[in-house]
Amino acid sequence: MPNHSKPKCLIIIGAGLSGLYAAYLLQDHFEIVILEANDHIGGRILGTPNGGDLGPTWVWSHHKATLALSQELGLTLFAQYTKGDALYDDPKGVQRFNPAPFAPSARFAGGVSTLTDALYNKLHRVKFHFNTPVDTILDQDDEIIVQSGINRYQGDKVISTLPPRLIAQNIRFSPPLSSQIVSELNQTPTWMAQSAKALISYESAFWREDGLSGFAISHQGILGEIHDASQADHPALFGFFHANRSVEDSKSAIIDQLTRLFGPYAAHPLCIDLKDWKIDPCCSTPLDQIPLRDHPDYGLDISAFDGRFSCIGTETSYIEGGYLEGALQSALKISKQLLGI
Ligand SMILES: Cc1cc2nc3c(=O)[nH]c(=O)nc-3n(C[C@H](O)[C@H](O)[C@H](O)COP(=O)(O)OP(=O)(O)OC[C@H]3O[C@@H](n4cnc5c(N)ncnc54)[C@H](O)[C@@H]3O)c2cc1C
Repeated sequence: MPNHSKPKCLIIIGAGLSGLYAAYLLQDHFEIVILEANDHIGGRILGTPNGGDLGPTWVWSHHKATLALSQELGLTLFAQYTKGDALYDDPKGVQRFNPAPFAPSARFAGGVSTLTDALYNKLHRVKFHFNTPVDTILDQDDEIIVQSGINRYQGDKVISTLPPRLIAQNIRFSPPLSSQIVSELNQTPTWMAQSAKALISYESAFWREDGLSGFAISHQGILGEIHDASQADHPALFGFFHANRSVEDSKSAIIDQLTRLFGPYAAHPLCIDLKDWKIDPCCSTPLDQIPLRDHPDYGLDISAFDGRFSCIGTETSYIEGGYLEGALQSALKISKQLLGI
């Protein structure tokens, strides 16, 4: 007998990579509504119009789910540019060196946003509500009510993809989550929430002509670590920066530093894009202002309301938590649970 019962309603909170991928995997089995605080998809994946990345940049060969999904979606990857010398910048001056080979990393042609854009374009039946920051989740008479201000959404099942600390700090639960769950959420740092990234675009990749890879480690300037960030027709460098100055001061400090490191051509960028993740309330909390010394040991199993509320997202993944791969693995795990496979 065919089953004509109405599909259950699944509410996914957050339209970052894990939320979009969970929707992609589950859209044939549930009516899906995605509630997103921002006015755009992607979460920590954030691009510029020229394919630059202000969030993640790299994927590695052991990130199997990321590579498989990229292939399935027809995306192109290319190797990170590493030819030539690197620079080491300390009080003794700028020195050229040949870095020890590290695990080769790949980049997305057109930027990492091509991954979230491609997923979004496949979600024909999923309903999106942007500018919808969830503030309350209620367990009520066999249904879960999710609220954003005066707007209410009813679902049979709710998946949060928020970084764990954002759940603990920004969402009210009724009945409340146990103190043990709140403590676990608060103790899980958000990966890269302490970072700020600058993308500096140029007319040409002049550093390559000088035998430089674009990679630099600096103890002297605003950018601590610099890499070649060029896309096909858009030469660029990117760097992680210390973001305790105004935007204009940061930009002029970046130009000064790059000119000192890479020579006079560096003084004339086409543009500089900055993104300070520390001050993005959809990523970072006051607890995340302290820099992390090491990559945390991620993995969390959080559910409540008799299993009708669950948490996914990269920080919940025991496999490559923190990375794009962790976000995908967490979505794969919940989809298997919900489909009973
Ligand atoms: C600067 C930087 C560099 C990185 N480099 C790499 C790299 O090179 N390689 C790599 O693999 N990974 C890297 N990462 C990590 C990678 O970006 C993340 O692992 C991945 O994007 C996380 O996806 P997610 O869906 O788990 O979370 P998120 O992308 O954080 O998604 C959560 C979503 O929830 C939304 N949201 C928040 N609060 C609310 C609310 N109250 N209501 C509704 N919606 C809400 C957010 O807006 C967001 O869209 C980097 C991250 C950053 C910031």
